[in-house]
Amino acid sequence: MSQFQPTERTQVKRLPKRGRYDRETVYQILDTCFVCHVGFNVDGQPYVIPTNYGRAGDTLYLHGSAASRMLKTLSEGVPVCVTVTHVDGIVLARAAFHHSVNYRAVVILGTAPLVDSPAEKMEALRIFTEHVMKGRWDDVRQPTEQELKATTVLALPLEEVSAKVRTGGPLDDEADYSLPVWAGVLPLETVPKEPVPDSQRKSDPPVPDYLKHYRH
Ligand SMILES: Cc1cc2nc3c(=O)[nH]c(=O)nc-3n(C[C@H](O)[C@H](O)[C@H](O)COP(=O)(O)OP(=O)(O)OC[C@H]3O[C@@H](n4cnc5c(N)ncnc54)[C@H](O)[C@@H]3O)c2cc1C
Repeated sequence: MSQFQPTERTQVKRLPKRGRYDRETVYQILDTCFVCHVGFNVDGQPYVIPTNYGRAGDTLYLHGSAASRMLKTLSEGVPVCVTVTHVDGIVLARAAFHHSVNYRAVVILGTAPLVDSPAEKMEALRIFTEHVMKGRWDDVRQPTEQELKATTVLALPLEEVSAKVRTGGPLDDEADYSLPVWAGVLPLETVPKEPVPDSQRKSDPPVPDYLKHYRH
């Protein structure tokens, strides 16, 4: 898969060896998460709002209520910065200074125009739903025309994109390796637990396979 072209704005400056621009890495980071943070500026005040997303090809879809300040602002063409972060471990060094985190992160810069056509909007919502829970869309009632109208969908093209990845153990100063301090990595992972059925249920269908075998 090809590379995203680093720009002056997406060039990783600190520890540039950790910067990645290949689509394979970027897609892998985006597709194994579904929460992003959306940064934008309104009247000189930056806001960073957590929200869900979906990806298809080189498009990241955001959605929400037509009344959302975030979505209204972005649909006006305000520049946006979207970040997606995985925390893979806490890196415990012998020196406080060298503590770190193992992570995979993506930063996307651009503008996110409205998805106008109802057919494209419906497809974007399918992609969005499937991104969060693969297999869910075909199982549930599809959005009505009214629900579709009440939902804003934005499409952010993946053009100006960077990824940054840290892996491995602590990097201590040579003199500190003999210190009697435990050092290493505490790996962290998001793990699904037992699904909890809704107490309001009027029918009792079995837990679907996509839920039983859920793994993002
Ligand atoms: C969970 C986590 C914890 C971190 N903790 C710290 C910390 O405590 N202190 C600290 O200084 N840094 C921390 N970082 C790293 C931080 O994200 C930046 O990479 C770092 O601050 C310096 O980058 P820079 O000078 O290259 O950034 P900038 O000059 O701000 O960035 C230049 C460009 O590089 C790209 N870029 C920078 N960082 C990232 C990234 N993480 N992922 C994808 N693209 C990126 C972007 O396109 C950005 O526009 C952490 C990262 C993660 C994911």
